[in-house]
Amino acid sequence: MHDVVIIGAGASGTALLYTLASYTDIKKVAIMEKYDRPGQVNSKASNNSQTLHVGDIETNYTIDKVKQVYPSAMMVAQYAKSLPENERNKILFNTPKMVLGVGKDQVLTLEKRYKDLLPIFPKLKKLYREDIAKIEPEVIRGRNKNEPVIALYNIDGYAVDFENLSQSFIDHAKINKSDIEIFYKTKVHKIEKNTDNLYEIKTTKGEIIKTKVVIVDADSYSLMFAKQMGYGENFSLIPIAGSFYFTKKLLNGKVYTVQEPKLPFAAVHGDPDVRVPNQTRWGPTARFNPVLESSNFKTSGDFLRSSGLHRLRTWKSFIKILLDPTRFSYLVKNMLYELPWVGNHLFLVNVKKIIPTIKSRDIRVAKGYGGMRLQRVDTNTHELQLGEGKILGDNIIFNMTPSPGASVSLYNALRDTEQIMKFFNGQYKFDLLRMEKDLVINDNFDTHIEPSIPSGYAS
Ligand SMILES: Cc1cc2nc3c(=O)[nH]c(=O)nc-3n(C[C@H](O)[C@H](O)[C@H](O)COP(=O)(O)OP(=O)(O)OC[C@H]3O[C@@H](n4cnc5c(N)ncnc54)[C@H](O)[C@@H]3O)c2cc1C
Repeated sequence: MHDVVIIGAGASGTALLYTLASYTDIKKVAIMEKYDRPGQVNSKASNNSQTLHVGDIETNYTIDKVKQVYPSAMMVAQYAKSLPENERNKILFNTPKMVLGVGKDQVLTLEKRYKDLLPIFPKLKKLYREDIAKIEPEVIRGRNKNEPVIALYNIDGYAVDFENLSQSFIDHAKINKSDIEIFYKTKVHKIEKNTDNLYEIKTTKGEIIKTKVVIVDADSYSLMFAKQMGYGENFSLIPIAGSFYFTKKLLNGKVYTVQEPKLPFAAVHGDPDVRVPNQTRWGPTARFNPVLESSNFKTSGDFLRSSGLHRLRTWKSFIKILLDPTRFSYLVKNMLYELPWVGNHLFLVNVKKIIPTIKSRDIRVAKGYGGMRLQRVDTNTHELQLGEGKILGDNIIFNMTPSPGASVSLYNALRDTEQIMKFFNGQYKFDLLRMEKDLVINDNFDTHIEPSIPSGYAS
C-alpha cells in the first residue's frame, strides 16, 4: 500500500516527487508514467518554448502576478544552480530576454511597465533603437526609421530544458529516498475509491495499486480523470496546439512582443533552442486541434471525454469565447498557417514584427515540434480561465498546468505538499523552512499563496 501516488512524470509530477522525497518523511511514494521516460509530453524540450517565465517580458501578467511568479519560477533556477556543473549545464541556460514594443502606444505601455517592474528586477534595462541594435542587430536592421521602438531587456534571463529537468528531479528524488517507486510504461486507466477509503489505481496492464492520496499531474489529461470521478463537471477545455518554425540564428537571446490582452497566450516570439545550436525557433502558433497530445490523433477520444461537449452550456461557452472578434480572427489566421506554401507567407507577418528583413524562404516548419495549450473554460460563467488550475478533492488533487506550469513546477509542488500534509492530518512532516532556505530567493515571499485556485496566472 502506498501513501502517495503521483500520476504523470512531466515537470509537475517529478517536481512533486522530488519535494516529497527530499523534504518530507512520507514513507511510500510512487510515480506512474505512461511513457518510458519522464518529460515526454508538454515538458519535452521540443514541445514548449523553454522559457523560465519570471514576468519580466510577459506583458499580460499584472504586476501582482509578476511579484508571485518571479520567486516561484526562480525556485527552478535555484534548484538547477545547486546541481553539479555537468548536470546543471543540461538544464539551465543563461539566455537574455527582451520584450519589444513597436509604435507609439506600445512605447508608452512599456515605459510605464518599466517603472513598475524596476523594483522587482533592478537590473532590467529600458533600451531604444541604438541600444537594441547593439544587442539584437537583426531587430533593427531594415526597420522603418520613423517607427518608434523600445525594449525591456533582462540580461539575467534563463532558458530551461524542462525534459532534462524532469529527469533530474527523478534522479535526485531517488538519491534522497531510495525506496520511491517509479513505474514507466504504465498507463493509468481508472482511479476508484474502495470501501476502506483508499484509492485503487488501475493500469492498462491490469495492475491495481492502492494508495491513500493521489496527485494527478497529467496536465491536459487531469480534467479527464477528475470528471471520471465526479469532479470538475463545470470545466471544459479549448484545445489549442502550438507549433514552431526554425530560421538560421537571427537572435542572440529571447525576443518577445507586447501581447494582445484578449488572447490567453504569448504572441509569437523568437528563441534560441537549447538543443539546436545556431538556429532561432519561432512560435508558437495557436491552432484549434481537438486532441490532448499534439500530433497524436488517438487522444481525440480523451479530449471528448474531458470537454463535456454533450452539454449545451459547453457549446454556449465555446461560442461566446471563440466568436469574440479578436480571438476568432486570430484563430482563423492560425489555421491558415497550416496551408502549404501560403502558410509560411502568412506566418512571416508575425516574425517581421521582430525581424523586418525576414523572407519566406528563410523560414521552415519545425517538424515534430510543438505541444498542446489546453485552455480551461468555466461553463457556468462561459469564461476562459487563464493559467493553471487545481481541483481539490477528497485526498486527491488534479492539476491542470498550461504555461507557465513548467516554470512554477517547484512552487506548485510546495503548495501540493502542504495540502498532502493536511490529507495526512499530522502523520507526516514537511520541512518547509528547509525547502524555502534551499530554493526561495526572496525572504519576503509568502509561500502560502495558492495562485491556481482563486485566479490563476495569465499564461
Ligand atoms: C507550445 C507551448 C509552449 C510552452 N512554453 C512554455 C515556456 O516557455 N515556459 C513554461 O514554463 N511553460 C511553457 N509551456 C507550458 C509547459 O509546457 C507546461 O506547463 C508543462 O510542461 C506542464 O508540465 P506537466 O508535468 O504538468 O505536464 P506534461 O509535461 O504534459 O506531463 C504530464 C505527464 O502525464 C503523463 N500521463 C498522461 N496521462 C497519463 C496516464 N493515463 N497514465 C500515466 N501517465 C499519464 C504524460 O505522459 C506526461 O508525461 C508551453 C506549452 C506549450 C504547449
